[in-house]
Amino acid sequence: MQQIRGIGASPGLAAAKAYRMRTGERATPGRTTVEDAEQEVERLRKAVSQAGTELERIRTATEEKLGTHKAEIFEGHLMILDDPEWMDVIVGKINDEAVNAEYAVHEVSQTFIDMLMGMDDELLRERAVDIRDVSGRVMSHLQGRPHRDLSSLTEPCILIAEDLTPSDTAQLNLDVILGFVTEIGSRTSHSAIMARSLDIPAIVGVGQGIHGIEDGAVVVMDAVEGTVLVGPGEEELVAFRDKKRSYDIRKAELAALKDRPTQSADGVRVELAANIGKLEDVQKALDNGAEAIGLFRTEFLYMGRDSLPTEEEQFNSYKYVLEKMDGKPVVIRTLDIGGDKELPYLSLPKESNPFLGQRALRLCLSREDLFRTQLRALLRASRFGNLKIMFPMIAVVDELREAKRILEEEKRRLAEAGTPPDDRIEVGMMIEVPAAAVAADTFAGEVDFFSIGTNDLIQYTMAADRMNETVAYLYQPCHPAVLRLIRMVIQAAKQQGKWVGMCGEMAGDQTAIPLLLGMGLHEFSMSAGSILPARELIGRLSKAEWSMSAEEALTMRGQDEIQAFIQMKIRNGAYA
Ligand code: PEP
Ligand code: MG
Repeated sequence: MQQIRGIGASPGLAAAKAYRMRTGERATPGRTTVEDAEQEVERLRKAVSQAGTELERIRTATEEKLGTHKAEIFEGHLMILDDPEWMDVIVGKINDEAVNAEYAVHEVSQTFIDMLMGMDDELLRERAVDIRDVSGRVMSHLQGRPHRDLSSLTEPCILIAEDLTPSDTAQLNLDVILGFVTEIGSRTSHSAIMARSLDIPAIVGVGQGIHGIEDGAVVVMDAVEGTVLVGPGEEELVAFRDKKRSYDIRKAELAALKDRPTQSADGVRVELAANIGKLEDVQKALDNGAEAIGLFRTEFLYMGRDSLPTEEEQFNSYKYVLEKMDGKPVVIRTLDIGGDKELPYLSLPKESNPFLGQRALRLCLSREDLFRTQLRALLRASRFGNLKIMFPMIAVVDELREAKRILEEEKRRLAEAGTPPDDRIEVGMMIEVPAAAVAADTFAGEVDFFSIGTNDLIQYTMAADRMNETVAYLYQPCHPAVLRLIRMVIQAAKQQGKWVGMCGEMAGDQTAIPLLLGMGLHEFSMSAGSILPARELIGRLSKAEWSMSAEEALTMRGQDEIQAFIQMKIRNGAYA
């Protein structure tokens, strides 16, 4: 038995066989000379035929599960396999240069990819992505490593991967995947966030420990503690079952708070909202007693597909969420692509520091077509509920003004077309860039609300990449610098009569909540699973008492001291 430690990124317990996701299929193959080119071509044809059979099966399964539209991508892949232009050039290269098939496939595909990537036409650039996928699939057959795709899994398992992209995570089949463990990542990487909204146990950042987990080994994951047991004995399995039982009982107890308002022990009402990324998350939010949606990360509507969602598709999604929330507030954030959230079909240029690059609103202001489509869909949907629109990643007032100007223009156009949007839509901004936090007073007059995005605010304040587990210790929500910034933002908003919420992970952090309540935060938006524990905690806290304690905490030296102070107060029951 072996124990591996990582970061518990989404709580829960699970035990099952490990399923190791393969990586490295795309490693560049070396060039070798072959003696019998004909035999090498034969090997290539066999791999192509295997890839074809596999794609055919995936196409049929996708069509049955997700419809014809989603299956079209595999239709396109099959066409590439059948395309004589691609195949003939590879065969020619093997024959002419007597090189191994892997090398020929890689070289020829790369030439096509480079050529297509240089084209103006978006459709052709998308074709490059398809060629990369297809050549990777053929390559894995050549190397005798069948390309196993997650949708074909039928047995319950725990997924073990180097990393999962947010779109991988969005597409997990939760009927069979009971949890996942990744080598890299941190609590605030987007796959971790997705895992929490899917309510699936996840442990990230286990580092080299990942290599100790073999495919098919039995693993027990405790994502509350962040531990993975590989090959547990009977004793460990019994302990696991006991712990899981207690965990499930605690969940059931908390469920009794589902329809209660959130109120501190001294009667101060605050709002507990949910962060969502997919339409299915709305039901989870309601089941967990969310009083609002505090953050809809709309970029997930753009992921796991091969083209941009149309205005109509987006309108239907926003309308669905607004209707389902039945008049409760719904904060919808405009597209936040960039950083660890990529959209391959947009073929955006590679950036060396994507978290500091043309991300989120910066991208939207440079791609107005995307932005306007989204805004129109939002404005049209506004008539179906209580919509609030929020802009991400603002650093300077001009960005906010420009976004608002475009929004107003789209509003006017809709009104002129005889379909005016709701006239009570609030417009807010995220505070996630330190510049905006420090100068929050200069923004407050131009918005209806702020929502503090601590995931980014902390990474930028501490200069610590939120994706990098080796600097995960610098994710310090209770660092005095972070707390001071938060206090400044809350005060700036309050002084100008605006409400302020928080939608970063810190809002659901049990240790931070007392201070946030004390500092006067109004809305706490978090993963659905954190809502009921937060409601229970707030019900035991006195806002007045914690206002004073927050002041005291802000004079302390560092996160350790501050957290110890909070925990000591809670333990001593001196909080109510
Ligand atoms: C944040 O940065 O805190 C936030 C809520 O946005 P995201 O996690 O999507 O970057
Ligand atoms: Mg952010």
